[in-house]
Amino acid sequence: MSTLTGVENRMAMQLRLREIFEKNQRANDAVAVLWMDLDRFKEINDSIGHMIGDQLLCVVAETLSEALDRRGYVSRFGGDEFILVCPGANRAGAQAIAADVLGYFRQNFEIAGHTLSVTASLGIAIAPQDGRDADELLQHADMALYQAKGNGRNRAVSFTWSMKERFNRLHDIETGIRTALRDREMSLHFQPIFDLASGKVASCEALLRWTHPLLGSIAPRELIPIAENIGLINEISEWVLAEACAAAAEWPEDVRLSVNISPAVFQSADLPRIVISHLMATGLPARRLELEVTESVLLVDEPRTNAMLLDLRKIGLRLALDDFGTGYSSLSYLSAFAFDTIKVDESFMRIVNTSPETQAVIRAIIFLAAELGMDTVAEGIESDGQLSYASDTGFNYAQGFLLCPPVPRAEITRMLSESFDIGTQRSLRSRQLLRKRA
Ligand code: C2E
Ligand code: MG
Ligand code: MG
Repeated sequence: MSTLTGVENRMAMQLRLREIFEKNQRANDAVAVLWMDLDRFKEINDSIGHMIGDQLLCVVAETLSEALDRRGYVSRFGGDEFILVCPGANRAGAQAIAADVLGYFRQNFEIAGHTLSVTASLGIAIAPQDGRDADELLQHADMALYQAKGNGRNRAVSFTWSMKERFNRLHDIETGIRTALRDREMSLHFQPIFDLASGKVASCEALLRWTHPLLGSIAPRELIPIAENIGLINEISEWVLAEACAAAAEWPEDVRLSVNISPAVFQSADLPRIVISHLMATGLPARRLELEVTESVLLVDEPRTNAMLLDLRKIGLRLALDDFGTGYSSLSYLSAFAFDTIKVDESFMRIVNTSPETQAVIRAIIFLAAELGMDTVAEGIESDGQLSYASDTGFNYAQGFLLCPPVPRAEITRMLSESFDIGTQRSLRSRQLLRKRA
């Protein structure tokens, strides 16, 4: 018995589950495990005190017994986590139980004069499909619970094997990131951005590459959010800045460097200091560095964001608004914040030749940008049609696979040391295409 709540404790629950498993192995009966966790219990506990938190847990234990209505056993796993073991319940049975439990939590709890509104999340796993033994079944119910929390709480989610695959991948990536820099698994590629008027390379964008020893190459769009989640994004960004600035210091002086800065890093007051230290260490002049941010940084705390943008500009850096056209794309951002460059997203360019509406929006962006003295980059140029469109509409710059894919540091440095512009690139690319077709 758990002394606080009067229901079985973790040990008793595990014994019971193992016993059921042994019996079931012969009969091949179903057994369901529902792992339940109160949403934001810590906040409740911290705000109204542990005494009331404890009483809430007792009431929850009673509520669960009532909701279960003899369809299984309630146990307290620890903290605010409860486990329901339901012999004989198949998937539909378990989902019905979960729905009943969630239904009970729709009412408020009255405890010592406090009215508490509490919700819960549940993860469901069912033997024999979801686990071969008690431990595996529990582990998978826990995984499903994690997913329920991730999907927005106050819900029940059933385990699936594809969930497990995603989890394993996430786990491998999370542990891999911790040692990737030390083990030199990360590198930067650089993709030129061409000036449409002169045909010359105006800037090169640093793009993170990671080859995981087992999973192979992991795209930055997968890697960056995970690094943000586990608090390693600052370390990675510092490395990117150091490596990119060192590379750019070897390039011709009229070629800039573009570096993507994740919104999480943008929120840290340290950013200007970090940037300055890398510029000093590599001797790269501030005017040659452009930081690219996506509009999500503009959605939080406007005065602070603007102060940060101004701080960065004081250093003499350039700032670009990346992926414009993917999010809110409010035209008011363009006048409210001090950007030097707007990069119009690749998804926009993809449909530009078929969508008159998109063309109208792009013309409006270009007009506004010109009025406000900002440069425009067309991202994701893959075809000659897109390139002529970009140059006819008045974009200042273009970037894309048609012109040059992202290439390793040594290669971009070599290319920049030779005469290399839109013309040579395009004839090179078409020769490669002809060779491929031949
Ligand atoms: P982004 O900043 O918009 O970078 C451009 C992306 O478009 C790159 O993808 C590039 O390889 C890809 N691209 C270039 N030309 C074309 C084209 O013609 N067609 C298409 N469809 N795509 C093209 P990549 O390298 O996978 O990077 C994806 C995103 O990950 C970047 O988008 C950026 O937001 C983020 N990212 C990359 N490196 C870093 C980094 O060092 N730090 C941070 N915070 N984010 C990074
Ligand atoms: Mg970018
Ligand atoms: Mg972009």
